Amino acid sequence: MPLPIVAWFRRDLRLSDHPALVEAAKTGRPIIPLYILEDDEKNSWADGAASKWWLHQSLEALSKSLEQLGGRLYLRRGSPQKVLTDVIQSSGAKSLYWSRCYEPYAINRDKSIKSFFVEAHFDVKSFNSNLLFEPWEIQTADGSPYRVFTPYWKSCLKLWNDRRPLLSQYPMTFYEGNLSSDILESWALCPQKKWADGFKDMWCPGETGAQDRLNDFISNRLKSYVHDRDKPGLDGTSRLSPHLHWGEISPIAVITAIESAMASDSTLKEGGEKFLSELGWREFSHHLLYYFPTLPEQNFQSKFDHFEWQSDEKDFLEKWQRGKTGYPIVDAGMRELWKTGWMHNRVRMIVASFLTKHLRIHWRRGEEWFWDTLVDADLAHNAASWQWVAGSGAD
Ligand SMILES: Cc1cc2nc3c(=O)[nH]c(=O)nc-3n(C[C@H](O)[C@H](O)[C@H](O)COP(=O)(O)OP(=O)(O)OC[C@H]3O[C@@H](n4cnc5c(N)ncnc54)[C@H](O)[C@@H]3O)c2cc1C
Repeated sequence: MPLPIVAWFRRDLRLSDHPALVEAAKTGRPIIPLYILEDDEKNSWADGAASKWWLHQSLEALSKSLEQLGGRLYLRRGSPQKVLTDVIQSSGAKSLYWSRCYEPYAINRDKSIKSFFVEAHFDVKSFNSNLLFEPWEIQTADGSPYRVFTPYWKSCLKLWNDRRPLLSQYPMTFYEGNLSSDILESWALCPQKKWADGFKDMWCPGETGAQDRLNDFISNRLKSYVHDRDKPGLDGTSRLSPHLHWGEISPIAVITAIESAMASDSTLKEGGEKFLSELGWREFSHHLLYYFPTLPEQNFQSKFDHFEWQSDEKDFLEKWQRGKTGYPIVDAGMRELWKTGWMHNRVRMIVASFLTKHLRIHWRRGEEWFWDTLVDADLAHNAASWQWVAGSGAD
């Protein structure tokens, strides 16, 4: 019997345009789809409560999609190296494929896992599934990282046609041996309190939900995106952020759909170009985090290190968190966040500015609150955006 390949899912919770799965499928060998829930203690930026809620729903959706193809998603909890060793020993797998993550913790973890299995003569391959350009592909003329968005994005646009093409799905066969798997509910990812009950009204986590969201955006909002995206009272943006964060849709798939819509309808050009540059900010944040891994904890501009933040912050911070500052737009945004796990970009800027510049509370307190409550909480975007608003970040 051909030796199976372990496809380790992380933040690539989809089946389409998935380089690791396509490569695994091309070998014709049986695939073991695996998700590992890591213990929180090891990672100082372990997923927050809203992210865990999303993860539960997204894993459920991925499991169903795999079952429809005759496979199943194996769920395991613990140290990835130990779990992978156990799965490999139990199944006889000789290959391990995954999609790359770019956060400092994930990079170190993956490096160590890769060298462990490569030394043991396993076939280990990793792929870019979630970015248009990997952080190290874009550099200034002297080989240093970019610190300013506009020249960074211009460099990306020069390489635009060289980006990875959209991949079509490949027929897969799945491992049929005996492997244990946890029950998703036993992970208790959804909060005990009723706090997240409202999320389901707004979100449909998973690959189908992501695709529906994209189609709806192109049909109904792309044309007016340039004008409507900054109006918090309108539903004028894509709301793709959590889907992109969890890799339920690839940025290549999003761009391919947007470009094709623009090609068939010239009135979508303006909105389409603006939208593509927003995806550029997504790329830029990853570029920054990769080259400046202390971005989530330390000022990007060290001149802010001596800034006198409010030391007695508890009272005001709590009012800000609960949407009880008395400033209507700030309170509306913070309550929207509490109810839906999301906030409009313009309002994120307002509440962040209010916290850091009006209340003079350290940007890290806001970053931490968003980390716990946003369904799209993303280490790179959150840190870069908080620092940008506070004034200590990149331009
Ligand atoms: C203080 C603060 C914190 C933020 N924290 C996060 C976060 O944790 N996760 C997150 O995804 N976004 C974050 N953002 C960026 C932005 O607010 C959201 O990406 C956007 O509101 C998501 O809504 P959308 O998908 O409808 O956006 P759209 O306008 O439809 O944009 C399309 C996509 O482009 C990307 N994008 C847009 N703006 C940005 C940006 N400024 N930085 C990086 N990517 C961007 C997102 O992936 C988004 O889904 C933050 C912004 C601020 C001001």
